[in-house]
Amino acid sequence: MIIERMLSNLNAAEPDCLLKLLRRIAISAFVLIISVSGFGIYHVYESYVVQNAEKDAARISQLIVAQEEVYLSRAELANNPKALLDPVIFNSLDRSLRKFLTPFDILKIKVFNTQGIVIYSTDPTIIGEDSSASQQLANALAGNIDSKLQTKESIHNLQFVERNQVDVVETYMPIYNPQNQIIGSFEIYKDITSHRSEIMSGVLSSVAILAGILILIFGLVYQLLRISIAQLRATQVKLQHIATTDELTGLLNRREIMSRAEQEFLRHQRACIYHPDSSFSAMMIDIDHFKQVNDHFGHTTGDAVLRQFSELLQEQCRGYTHVGRYGGEEFLILLPDTDLDKALVVAERLRMAVKSSPISHDSNSVTVTLSVGISTVNEQDSDFDQILVRADRALYHAKELGRDRVVTEYCDKSDDQEIINPSLFCE
Ligand code: GH3
Ligand code: MG
Ligand code: MG
Repeated sequence: MIIERMLSNLNAAEPDCLLKLLRRIAISAFVLIISVSGFGIYHVYESYVVQNAEKDAARISQLIVAQEEVYLSRAELANNPKALLDPVIFNSLDRSLRKFLTPFDILKIKVFNTQGIVIYSTDPTIIGEDSSASQQLANALAGNIDSKLQTKESIHNLQFVERNQVDVVETYMPIYNPQNQIIGSFEIYKDITSHRSEIMSGVLSSVAILAGILILIFGLVYQLLRISIAQLRATQVKLQHIATTDELTGLLNRREIMSRAEQEFLRHQRACIYHPDSSFSAMMIDIDHFKQVNDHFGHTTGDAVLRQFSELLQEQCRGYTHVGRYGGEEFLILLPDTDLDKALVVAERLRMAVKSSPISHDSNSVTVTLSVGISTVNEQDSDFDQILVRADRALYHAKELGRDRVVTEYCDKSDDQEIINPSLFCE
């Protein structure tokens, strides 16, 4: 759901958004995976240690039972709680059980009879305590082994241990007589504190390895995506260039110059709200008798003339960014913020520059002239096409009047003079 929302907000045209999204997802996934797996690995290690302690407790209990069978298997253990308190039996059992404490990291051993009374403990102060309410003990007396990881604070009768941080696995084991009857239960406290640092270092090294692998994978994916996006961007720029540029001349192609013309027209309309005297002119240019250039010098020279003419056009119209090839040997120049008088000056300068710059190709030198038609936006115009039609009509007049000239939309066909009607400008 969140990913879906993020993707819908993603600007497909902006590949950087994709990288940003990937970075966010990678960081969130990294934190999530590391915390969840750290938690999981900790519990796996912990249960492994508890299981081992439980097995140890079971083995030790079996050992004790085997060694102390003479005392433990007595029927009195089940029937007579006082039996083990006989000093001879007690001392012998105590000596023998204490040997298990240090070598096996055991903090305490208790023996319960079937009524849940402590009939022996390595801590003599608790002998005689009634633990029949303990669920774990009841479990053991029912024939099950019951183990639990405890801390020093959670076990009230471990307060004698001086260390602050103590982890203990508390295991209850049933005691059987040779007839396989349960005659009591052991409770063994095995100290696993030293395993805590083992658990922690195990968890840390596992998490570090996992983090390394994740960083490697995410880093690799990120780099691959970055390279792909860089290639995509380069292709996008190339495609954009191909889609908007005329192949022969390098000028804007017809579709692009027309699209910019519409944009400039709308921009002009907005500007008119605050600046009523703002203007916008268009210039239609046609090379005179270009067919003859092809006919006399060949198509290749014709192409070279178009190319070099376009370069001259761009040089002369620097600052007026929108110069396009409208088709064949016709060109359209958009002149934002330019009124008819200024457009006329630009066109005249251009005409003179072209006329006085012969174009060389192979051994040929070709001089061409231009006919130019100019129009300016007026209040009645609702789109750029209307301006274009007037510029085209002015160009037609220029041709009719003998070519090699600039004519505005207000030119009287019978006259060679431009007539400007200022009342048609924006107010
Ligand atoms: P006018 O003064 O009336 O404009 O005469 P013109 O010969 O320039 O016009 P016309 O429309 O009769 O011929 C235009 C020529 O432009 C014909 C066409 O072969 C040539 N032309 C158009 N595009 C290209 C091009 O890309 N390369 C070359 N070499 N010639 C082209
Ligand atoms: Mg022509
Ligand atoms: Mg033409």
